[in-house]
Amino acid sequence: MKIHLKPLIPFSFSTELQIYLTGRALPYDELTDFHPILEKHITSGYVGWMDGLSQGTCHRCGNTESHLFGEMPCSRCGKTCTYCRKCIMMGRVNACSRLHVWTGPHLEYLLKEEPLKWSGKLSPQQAEASRKAIEAVKTHSILLIWAVCGAGKTEILFEAIAEAIHTGKRVCLAAPRTDVVLELGPRLKAAFPGIEIAVLYGGSEDRHHHGQLVISTTHQLYRYRDAFDLMIIDEVDAFPFSGDPSLEYAAQKSRRETSSLIYLTATPSSEFKARVKKGVLDAAIIPARYHRHSIPVPELSWCGNWEKSFAKKTIPKAVSKWLAERLQFSTPFLLFFPNIKIMEEALPLFQRLHPDIQYVHAEDPNRKEKVQSLRENKVPGLLTTTILERGVTIPRLEAAVLGTEKPIFTESALVQIAGRVGRSADHPTGNISFFHYGKTEEMLDAVSHIKQMNAEAKRRDLIVE
Ligand SMILES: [Zn+2]
Ligand SMILES: [Zn+2]
Repeated sequence: MKIHLKPLIPFSFSTELQIYLTGRALPYDELTDFHPILEKHITSGYVGWMDGLSQGTCHRCGNTESHLFGEMPCSRCGKTCTYCRKCIMMGRVNACSRLHVWTGPHLEYLLKEEPLKWSGKLSPQQAEASRKAIEAVKTHSILLIWAVCGAGKTEILFEAIAEAIHTGKRVCLAAPRTDVVLELGPRLKAAFPGIEIAVLYGGSEDRHHHGQLVISTTHQLYRYRDAFDLMIIDEVDAFPFSGDPSLEYAAQKSRRETSSLIYLTATPSSEFKARVKKGVLDAAIIPARYHRHSIPVPELSWCGNWEKSFAKKTIPKAVSKWLAERLQFSTPFLLFFPNIKIMEEALPLFQRLHPDIQYVHAEDPNRKEKVQSLRENKVPGLLTTTILERGVTIPRLEAAVLGTEKPIFTESALVQIAGRVGRSADHPTGNISFFHYGKTEEMLDAVSHIKQMNAEAKRRDLIVE
């Protein structure tokens, strides 16, 4: 991609513009505050620009698919202008748009004191992964951290981030889902109180902040280019990052040419596993939870034609028995459904067992409050879609999946769901049941994935029981 730039003429440039634009590539419309001084910076060589679209490629999101480009009469160039529909939710990029980049002096980060204020202690296996992560930062290499659900993977990153910040580097921790970004923000702010941190997601107030440490949804990375010396991608297997090549493009282009890349996941894709096996991708594998108890192994339970049961307004026997036991002992539970429609229709049946049972799904505006009520034992349990497969930690929680044979329940989704159970050191065990109407490869793979990790943890003497 060609960057147009003029020779640098000594000039008292705006440090605000330098801070705002460093590491970003922004269209004119996103530089409103700087419009009066922008032209002067361009003619003096402090701001360069590249075409928004050229040769059938959008340079913001990497889109090359012709059906994702539209045409419109354009007020700016007065012609019929092509625009990108793929990244339109961030404002329009037209064929006549320019993406502006900072080409003036480098921004330097001054370190006043030790950046990491976290006083916790890493387990020996966390410490080993942490050493590998620090090494990746020092040698600008790529590392996969494959850590089971509940291994404490965020803490593993702290020293590697501190190492990068120490040496004046800029760091990005990206995750596909807003929920995860919202959860990581406060934890990182507490660990690095003296560092400027920007937390970015659709509609976030930090959008204009610079941030030596940026915590961002992968979508927001469309705005960045050559920005980060250390890029960490959390939940690399999670929707929508996997299966959307433009997000991979966004993550790659926002890294600097010489930079480190750390992938984090509990459930790597088969492609990642194959790369590790071949030795082309370095990995730190953590098979045990921080509390050193095995991960509960799911019980497979045949429940007959449950769709037919619901049509007849009854809950399959195996499922109602499971629920009755949880209700009897006041064990908080999540019951996962394959889709919203079936869950909505089934709710009244479940409320006959207990009137306070509720459901949550992705568009539910009260999702956070409902999860909080479960945590505070104000509701006995929730019916949910796969939206709660990640990120939820509730002591004593038990979980079940209904209709586990449906394609939405992939190996990785099922391993994540099982990973909700037994997370706290006080209650490291618990029941996880997969109710099904016929076994699938995915559920068998999920069970053997968990068994393998437990066996590996035992072999390495990481389990206490
Ligand atoms: Zn685009
Ligand atoms: Zn135009």
